[in-house]
Amino acid sequence: MSPPLASRIALVTGASRGIGYATARALAKAGAHVVAVARTQGGLEELDDEIRQDGGSATLVPLDLSDFDGSARLGAALHERHGKLDILVGNAGVAGPSSPLGHIDLKPWTDVIAVNVTANFQLIRCMEPLLRKSDAGRAVFITSAAANKAQAYLGPYAASKAALETLVRVWANETASTQIRVNLFSPGPIRTRMRATVFPGEDPLTLETPEQVAQFIVPMCRPDWNETGKLYDYKTRMLQSFHVPA
Ligand code: NAP
Repeated sequence: MSPPLASRIALVTGASRGIGYATARALAKAGAHVVAVARTQGGLEELDDEIRQDGGSATLVPLDLSDFDGSARLGAALHERHGKLDILVGNAGVAGPSSPLGHIDLKPWTDVIAVNVTANFQLIRCMEPLLRKSDAGRAVFITSAAANKAQAYLGPYAASKAALETLVRVWANETASTQIRVNLFSPGPIRTRMRATVFPGEDPLTLETPEQVAQFIVPMCRPDWNETGKLYDYKTRMLQSFHVPA
């Protein structure tokens, strides 16, 4: 029997470590050809080695996602090579400064917004035509509970994830009558470099791993996943709907 994602093309951003790395590996294990994007070549090569050992395949794309023209070039290259995209996992993110708003300069603010929001907007713009070419285009974006908690001292991060959530929900509404399904995934506290940077006093061994989370992201990428415009909250294992005003 062929694996569930055989012959599907999956683009995963932030695939050099953490949740993106584990998700890319799990998608490849399920049969997808993974297009892995991040800046750190070493992390991408390690991923490639592991995917090959598992019998899968990947294309490595060393790219800074705040180079928005780079994402456009990637879209054109995918079009030329595959003519479609089946899965988009918008996972890359940065935590930004841990400070009160009044102590944060404009530059760290714009850096966080560039990666967490604008880069995903650009991906939506560049990848939608390719996802429409798929018989079952699936997009999952990784958000954070910080968005709704308006978490103190993480202002740029919280605001960026709130903006991302709205952007993704708008796109879900716009694509509702197509074959594309667009959803959010909120992992909660997970053992990654980002989490350790923001909460250095926390014992990482008390946290769940990226590999555990990835097992819940993969089903949202499958052709038989039919929900759209929903948020999967990993901590509660609940699929949440958003209130749509009449
Ligand atoms: P992580 O280990 O720091 O990984 C972040 C990934 O994003 C890396 O692969 C990094 O690659 C990539 N990235 C960052 N800036 C980039 C850029 N400019 N261009 C391309 N790639 C870039 O963090 P993580 O915890 O796995 O986070 C993954 C996602 O989960 C993020 O969206 C985060 O907000 C979300 N999240 C995490 C937690 C948690 O507890 N870990 C909780 C809630 C939400 P390079 O540095 O190699 O470019």
